[in-house]
Amino acid sequence: MSKFTGYRCSICGTEYLPGQVTYTCPKDGGNLDIEMDYEAIKKKYHYEDITSRRDFSLWRYEPLLPVSEPKGEATPLHLAGWTPVFKLPRLADQLGLKHLWLKDESRNPSASFKDRASAIVVARAQEIKAEVVVTASTGNAGAALACMAAAVGQKAIIFAPKSAPPAKVAQLLIFGAKVILVDGTYDDAFDLTVKASQEFGWYCRNTGYNPFTVEGKKTGAFEIWEWWIEAHRDWHQKDSPLDDHPPLTIFVSVGDGNIISGIHKGFKDLLHLGWIPNMPRIIGVQAEGSAAIANAFHANTEVITPVSAVTIADSISVDLPRDGVRAVRAARDTNGTYITVSDDEIIKSIAELGQMGVFAEPAGATAYAGLAKATGSGAVGNDDPVLVLNTGSGLKDVRAAMQAVQSAPIIEPTLEAVKKIL
Ligand SMILES: *Cc1c(COP(=O)(O)O)cnc(C)c1O
Ligand SMILES: [Zn+2]
Repeated sequence: MSKFTGYRCSICGTEYLPGQVTYTCPKDGGNLDIEMDYEAIKKKYHYEDITSRRDFSLWRYEPLLPVSEPKGEATPLHLAGWTPVFKLPRLADQLGLKHLWLKDESRNPSASFKDRASAIVVARAQEIKAEVVVTASTGNAGAALACMAAAVGQKAIIFAPKSAPPAKVAQLLIFGAKVILVDGTYDDAFDLTVKASQEFGWYCRNTGYNPFTVEGKKTGAFEIWEWWIEAHRDWHQKDSPLDDHPPLTIFVSVGDGNIISGIHKGFKDLLHLGWIPNMPRIIGVQAEGSAAIANAFHANTEVITPVSAVTIADSISVDLPRDGVRAVRAARDTNGTYITVSDDEIIKSIAELGQMGVFAEPAGATAYAGLAKATGSGAVGNDDPVLVLNTGSGLKDVRAAMQAVQSAPIIEPTLEAVKKIL
């Protein structure tokens, strides 16, 4: 067991033992990084011990995780992760790129990237025998927690803003969580959840507060790494030398900054283990109306100044991002950058991805919108291999999707009527 050796504050660097703290740094409120015994992992495992595993879920990375997979039959919790990557050749042509792939996180059990975090947090909750897990959520984190909790019979309580899209609220209710809608913003729900968890002794999953969410999200990076090894092999066969291309550039949409921090953490883990030669570039994309992290990045500071967030992309609508510092570093330390996009650009991207057979919610399409902008501005070169994440399914927000298309005509059930509209 215990490759999980403790925590380290991302701000002041103070180290804590596993039993010493639960959420953020008691000194300065900084996000805590989970520390693992990389030397022990390195001694015990060769990377092929991982890549040859037959477990096609995020639990194939259990040796690199600070929790154990809950025992029992395959449930949605056991099946989170291992999402597909595929090429987008026509969009690549349109953008003048040679290599463009999409990793489709809408294929997760509750249809968003958040399942990765919630699977790990629920596993942790079971280990510490928490009776109740609670989270604040714009919708997806809650849906993911409710889904994973339902899968193993764990009690879950979700606080969401009352403006959350109905499909997400339906998921929360169907998964049997106790759902409390807050007459306020996501940030209001966040603060209330922290207070309630302190008052009632609930285990709090809040994004950018509970250190285990990043450990789930880093599995996205591990999967990209495994896929990249295979993609390299293909290039080899086509007589294209392994290192004769720029590093992979990854586009991630950013709200609280926890996904981008998780992707960064995953690649840092791999670097520590000596299993990758270098870091990919990580580019964060925010909505113009919710750009606190992008603002800090471009002002060259780690001080995150809150905004009054307004965007159609509800999953990334955040006044005060809770994982802003690490999110700034994820781009800065990987030679990446931050890009902001308008709601119009996001809506246009929903339509463009749809033309490729991918249905993304607004926050899911935001990464692609950022790429479209980056190719125009030169932030990404034509030879750069690029991977965009679709972080959530379009079925979660049908009202937003309908803004990306023209509504269908309604006709009399006659052939004449068909001829008229063709
Ligand atoms: C939560 C979420 C994001 C952003 O993740 P953060 O950790 O808040 O930056 C992006 N897309 C979707 C669909 C999400 O649910
Ligand atoms: Zn600290």
